[in-house]
Amino acid sequence: MRYSRQEILIGENNQKILNEKTIAVVGLGAIGSVTVDLLSRAGVNLIIIDRDIVELNNLQRQFFNEEDVEKPKALAIRSRLKKINSEIKISSFAEDLTFENINLLSKADLILDCTDNLETRFLINDFCLKNNKEWIYSAAIKTIGTIKHFKPKKACFKCIFKEIKGLESCETAGVLASTTMITASIQADMAIKILTNKETIDEMIRFDIKNSEIEKIRIKKINCEACKGKYEYLQRKTTIVKSCGEYFQITNKPINLKKLKNKLEKLGKVKYYEEYLQYKNIIIFNNGRALIKAKNEKQAKSDFSKFIGN
Ligand SMILES: [Zn+2]
Repeated sequence: MRYSRQEILIGENNQKILNEKTIAVVGLGAIGSVTVDLLSRAGVNLIIIDRDIVELNNLQRQFFNEEDVEKPKALAIRSRLKKINSEIKISSFAEDLTFENINLLSKADLILDCTDNLETRFLINDFCLKNNKEWIYSAAIKTIGTIKHFKPKKACFKCIFKEIKGLESCETAGVLASTTMITASIQADMAIKILTNKETIDEMIRFDIKNSEIEKIRIKKINCEACKGKYEYLQRKTTIVKSCGEYFQITNKPINLKKLKNKLEKLGKVKYYEEYLQYKNIIIFNNGRALIKAKNEKQAKSDFSKFIGN
């Protein structure tokens, strides 16, 4: 009954296939929060990963509520998806995907990139090439959305994109909710096609809602370093990253949150949850990763050593 409208189009057998498959979604922002909504309604099991905290300026385009502000996105979304579909399996990780925890993606039948940075995309690209997995790249900025299905043996992400610093971000260039939601819909549709063995287009889709244009861009395999088996992102370490928004991320060794709570409570009010705690401008998880709202990297580092220690 739940899937009857969808079954008319994809068939009962394909619905059963969807119910058995698992998709990993990396990044739960403007695209990811909508993509997981669509996929949970479609009956697909999910592994969801996001390193960020919900901020007020996210609500214009991301599927969160006001009560989610200041909560980790991965945990806020998990409660939301459970209310949408209690029959699917959801594993959620409020973590930064790195080469060290990349195996979170191992059990997925398909990986969706909904991140906002090239570094994680290169990491996903290397992981998928090495493990013969398929993935879908998605991005949106201003009024433009881009989607591409990457398959083994064809052109890879690195055949197209180079490492360029200082690209425009949604923070500076802006983005419309209509753009990100169309991007998410195309990505979710492509994902369902892949899981049910339907053809997807080989080209990269690029649309601009400003002038209602849609382009299909042919991509050539250039046999880049990654194609040749040089997976440099599977061993790259990052220590401090500026996340999208006002938070800085600092990664450290795992920490005993209860002990930290007792220590910080002597200084002021602490909000304590099972997986993380919040004190002033700091949110820290039990694996040692902290998100710190700060003006600059220096202040973030200083607050980290002042309240958490090194
Ligand atoms: Zn390549």
